[in-house]
Amino acid sequence: MTTISDVHMTPDEFRRAGHAVVDWIARYMEQVEDYPVLAQVEPGAIRARLPEAAPERGEPLEAVLRDLDEVILPGVTHWQSPNFYAYFPANASGPAMLGDLVSSGLGVQGMSWATSPACTELETHLLDWLVDLLALPESFRYTRAGGGVIQDTASSASLCALLAARERATVGRANVEGVTRTLTAYVSNQGHSSVMKGAGIAGIGRDHLRLIDVDDAHAMRPDALERAIVADREAGHTPFFVTATVGTTPSTAMDPLRPIGEICRRHGLWLHVDAALAGTAALCPEFRWIHEGLELADSYCFNPHKWMLTNFDCDAFYVADRAALLDALSILPEYLRTKASESGAVIDYRDWHVPLGRRFRALKLWFVIRHYGVAGLQLHVREHVKLAQEFAAWVEADARFALAAPVPLNLVCFRHVGGDEVNQRLMDELNASGDLYLSHARLDDRLVLRLAIGAPGTRRRHVERAWQRIRETAEAIAGGA
Ligand SMILES: *Cc1c(COP(=O)(O)O)cnc(C)c1O
Repeated sequence: MTTISDVHMTPDEFRRAGHAVVDWIARYMEQVEDYPVLAQVEPGAIRARLPEAAPERGEPLEAVLRDLDEVILPGVTHWQSPNFYAYFPANASGPAMLGDLVSSGLGVQGMSWATSPACTELETHLLDWLVDLLALPESFRYTRAGGGVIQDTASSASLCALLAARERATVGRANVEGVTRTLTAYVSNQGHSSVMKGAGIAGIGRDHLRLIDVDDAHAMRPDALERAIVADREAGHTPFFVTATVGTTPSTAMDPLRPIGEICRRHGLWLHVDAALAGTAALCPEFRWIHEGLELADSYCFNPHKWMLTNFDCDAFYVADRAALLDALSILPEYLRTKASESGAVIDYRDWHVPLGRRFRALKLWFVIRHYGVAGLQLHVREHVKLAQEFAAWVEADARFALAAPVPLNLVCFRHVGGDEVNQRLMDELNASGDLYLSHARLDDRLVLRLAIGAPGTRRRHVERAWQRIRETAEAIAGGA
């Protein structure tokens, strides 16, 4: 290679290489079930197999694909395996991958409407579709005072909600800095760690985030919330923000939105609803009860990148009053001014999140919704909920095991009755076997195992086999093996 024209991949070379990569991914999809689910490598093992220095001269794609097989795959934990039950799912799907590929191919930067109008308008339109698909409140539509935007993650969505709420609570006050120092926020003690992180980033202070008690089903207690708000106000604080969780991370507990929302209205607090995993279930009318009271929320988010077949990253974030969000985040330096923006006729999504730049993420979501249709997406959700309910019934019928929490959707929290040590060993041995991958949580101060059913390929035979492996392994531990 000597000239600049020689270094780039030509469209023709790209076509050939692209086919080879798509073939590689298709083979991976065929074989993913056969790999040990949890990567069985020691720390540093992958780096040790990589060359010390970057190549001086370009290498053929074949060499890269070979190293993908030999160096990278052994260090991959297979989130798309039908035997993956840890954490929450991170669905990948053919249509999402192809939509993402098109986004890469176009390589547009959609920070403003004018920098690629389709990037903005497709996104706005799809987020309105999702209002229909999940039967979300009408106030979340852009055609009303609200609107939706795709964020990278629920963590970013929570942060933006906090920033908008902070703006609303402090703007126009005589002593903004003084008031900001008194702000207090609320989330249940089962809420996601990103709320704590966000409180730090937003300058609220982690010690100004109150962790509210939960009931026997691990859901926030509205009476405890209200007491905390009143006590803070009496102590001279300024309560301003509540996160309610629809489907908590440890156990998919459902905070009661209506009473929480009524408390927020009564005391003038912003209500953000975090439905990162569970929101997808509302595709099915029979699960829409999880959003009962959502019309009282100021903002809401769920992650199509968890259970809605859209490759990471894709979080759908809504506000009921976009003015509060824009007040907090919009900026307009001279170099970003365009006629379209000045006219107010268009959306500039750079003002709806923290980064300036943004990818054309709506494409993958569009490919997904058009490939599956509403009916296909509903089948996907119903299959997993049904399998989780079956698994829960097997646990209940076995005297050596107990359910550790209600099972409203697709996550089963359970434990062996032998105590924490047995459960820890059970999980460690199962995960080391590579046959399946579970994670854990602590509920009521006990270690519990989490089996989250949500990988696109998981069928009844996989869940049956998981239960069989769990019982066999427990017997071996009890027998002193
Ligand atoms: C997974 C999860 C999150 C965080 O998701 P990211 O999109 O990775 O930030 C937030 N809240 C809840 C309840 C979750 O389960």
